[in-house]
Amino acid sequence: MGGDLRAARFAGLATGLALLGSGLAHAESKNFLGFRLLDLENQTVKWRTPTFGKSAVVTYAFATGPVTTPKARNCASMLPPAEAYGPSQITPRQFRREVAAAFRMWERVAGISFRETDDPSSAGIVIGAQAVPVGRAFTNVELKPGSGDKKVIGRSLICLNPKQPWKIGFDGRLGVYDLRYTIAHEIGHAVGLDHPSAAGQLMSYRYDEKQTGLQPGDVQGAVLLYGARPGARFTTATSRAAPGGDDAARGESGWPFGIGVNKTPSSPKAVQPR
Ligand SMILES: [Zn+2]
Repeated sequence: MGGDLRAARFAGLATGLALLGSGLAHAESKNFLGFRLLDLENQTVKWRTPTFGKSAVVTYAFATGPVTTPKARNCASMLPPAEAYGPSQITPRQFRREVAAAFRMWERVAGISFRETDDPSSAGIVIGAQAVPVGRAFTNVELKPGSGDKKVIGRSLICLNPKQPWKIGFDGRLGVYDLRYTIAHEIGHAVGLDHPSAAGQLMSYRYDEKQTGLQPGDVQGAVLLYGARPGARFTTATSRAAPGGDDAARGESGWPFGIGVNKTPSSPKAVQPR
C-alpha cells in the first residue's frame, strides 16, 4: 500500500488535464499517457518560454537562512535544508550529492539544465526545510508576473518536512522517504509536471519504492515541455507493464507529495483539489 502516507496534507493541486497535442481528454483512460502537465491559471506552465519543446536553463540554490514567501500556498516559510536532513544523520555532502543526482535525472533526458548558485534570492528553484512541518515534501510553483497571454514559471520552492525521517536509498521502509527520489519528484513539479496517477511513474503520487528513476511517462512529459536531450537514450529496464499503476489504487486519498500554486491577482478563484 505504498507507505503510510494518508496523513500528508493535500494542498492545492491544480485542476484540469493538459495533455496537449494528443486530443486525449481522460488521463486515466486506456489512452493514459503516463504524464500530466501542471495546469495553473488554466494554462500549462514551463520555464523561460511557453513554447513546447524549447529548452531551458534554470538555477537552483539551497536556503541559507529563512526564506519567506508570504503568498506561497506551500513552502511559504523555509529554513536551510539541513534542518530536515540533519536529524536523519545525513551530511551536507550527501544531501548535495543526492540533490544533484535528482536534477541530473531530468537533465539526462530532456532539454532542461540546472545550475547551482549560492544566492537563494535570485535562484529559480530554492530548496529548504519547512518552517511549519506538514506532510512530507511540497513544491510551490509561482508564475512570473507579466502581461503576456501565456505566463512562464518565475520561481519554484521545494520544502522538506524536518519532523519526518529521511534516508538515502531504498530499503523497503516506506515510512521513510528516499531523498533523491523525493527531490526528483518535487523537481518534476517545479518544472511543470503534475501527478498522472497513483503509481507507476516517478511523478505518481504514491511512494512505493518500485522504481528508482524516471519512467516512460515522466520522460515523455519532460520532453514535451523542453524537448529531448540530444543523444539521450532512455531505457525502461525498471518500468512495469501498466504505466498508470494498478486500478485498485486509484481514488485513494493518500497524497504523499503536495503541489501548490501561488494565488495571484490574475487568478482570483481558488485552486481546488481534485
Ligand atoms: Zn507530487
